Amino acid sequence: MTKLEAIIREMIVAEGPMRLDRYMALALGHPRHGYYTTRDPFGAAGDFVTAPEVSQVFGELIGVWCASAWVALGQPAPFNLIELGPGRGTLMADFLRAARVMPGFREAARVSLVEMSPTLRALQKQLLGEVHWYDSLDEVPQGASILVANEFFDAIPIRQFQNNGGTWFERVVGLGDTGLQLGLAEAPDLMGQGPHGEDGDIIEWSPQRDAIATAIGARLAAHPGVALVIDYGHLKTAPGDTLQAVRAHKPVPVTAAPGDCDLTSHVDFEALGKALRAGGAATAPVITQREFLLAMGFEARFAALAAKADGAARQILDRAKSRLADREQMGNLFKVLAAHTQGLATPYPFGQS
Ligand code: SAH
Repeated sequence: MTKLEAIIREMIVAEGPMRLDRYMALALGHPRHGYYTTRDPFGAAGDFVTAPEVSQVFGELIGVWCASAWVALGQPAPFNLIELGPGRGTLMADFLRAARVMPGFREAARVSLVEMSPTLRALQKQLLGEVHWYDSLDEVPQGASILVANEFFDAIPIRQFQNNGGTWFERVVGLGDTGLQLGLAEAPDLMGQGPHGEDGDIIEWSPQRDAIATAIGARLAAHPGVALVIDYGHLKTAPGDTLQAVRAHKPVPVTAAPGDCDLTSHVDFEALGKALRAGGAATAPVITQREFLLAMGFEARFAALAAKADGAARQILDRAKSRLADREQMGNLFKVLAAHTQGLATPYPFGQS
């Protein structure tokens, strides 16, 4: 049993079954035993690989997109360059290197990282030097901003509701015979007037994601700015259980070993867009990671790297390229959402088709 499981068991004994959003928040962010608090989970030796860790091209193209967004914003100086959940800091490092092509961008950027994990903050500092760190977006000073979030929202806690014979119940974590176990509890009233589903449907709702997206929208409404959100997920709100736990690149039960495996769910981009607009931002139609990367010069950038590489390195580049953009790999599952201050033209390559 993990240390965190022992703590969660005690909480359940004292307070009853635990909502999934609370369970997720503890599993990922418990100040001593949370998954992100205690480790660097990325890479082949870790639990999962993210796009910036696959290839430098990913962060570079995002840097190029943001540098041209900065020009479209009228080159505000200074401005907050905000990244939510920067992981090892790889995306930001590649981003800043590529954005050097835009004179004045780096000098104007006040790099502001929203990161809850002290372990990952230390890695980010090694790579990026002294920048600014915050526990939450609310703490980042107001002002013009460019915000990036890659695989951040999937880690933000969700709630799940299940339709049993026409009645909605909330999915909760309780105590089973051998360990923690998923169960159902009475759902709050709001589900009564809520969605009409079919027996067996599971729906997901993340008040916390909505709150963060609304805060981003409000920031973009108050000051000029853009936000780019990249994550795996679906374009339309639909029933489905997407909560997943992963350890060493393999799925494990959601209730197994809290604090020792990653816990995420797919991002509902329709809900995210609504929350951004509720905050006052405009949003562009969501596109796939494949569409975004190809439109941003992905092929040419890989070709330039391959031209300088030997045979073995070229194979690695080929694999990275496929992994990021092939339809059956990250290309279609991952979506890209752009939000911006109202009145600003829809940024390329959004709204093209
Ligand atoms: N963007 C990085 C890392 C993705 S993993 C990449 O693509 O490689 C999720 C990141 O979000 C980690 O850095 C994690 O510590 C951070 N994180 C997760 N939940 C958070 C929260 N509630 N507040 C701040 N940071 C959070």
